[in-house]
Amino acid sequence: MATMITTECINCGACEPECPNEAISEGDGAYFIDPNLCTECVGFHDYEACQAVCPVECCVPDPDYRESEATLLARAAKNHPAERFPRPLPAELTRFSNPGRQRAANE
Ligand code: SF4
Ligand code: SF4
Repeated sequence: MATMITTECINCGACEPECPNEAISEGDGAYFIDPNLCTECVGFHDYEACQAVCPVECCVPDPDYRESEATLLARAAKNHPAERFPRPLPAELTRFSNPGRQRAANE
């Protein structure tokens, strides 16, 4: 699933530069994530980078966007056409290998 930003967002901007997919934008009083760009950081980290820096923990899994690792990796490849992603992905490049990460319990 994509990650989403809840109404708890305090508009600090810390998450935006951390996103490897440029999926985070500033909205009206809160930041938001484009689910068509978010890969849950699959292809880049074994955790969601926005979650890791958010001071109020308002970057959470979006239950309306449940997606497989394969779908998310395909999106990463589409977002970064010049980049070659190893397949299968090594553990450090996919949050699916890291069930103990922050917010994982909410899925
Ligand atoms: S989970 Fe990763 S790809 Fe998705 S918005 Fe957050 S930082 Fe960007
Ligand atoms: S880091 Fe958290 S509080 Fe700050 S802009 Fe991003 S979602 Fe909002």
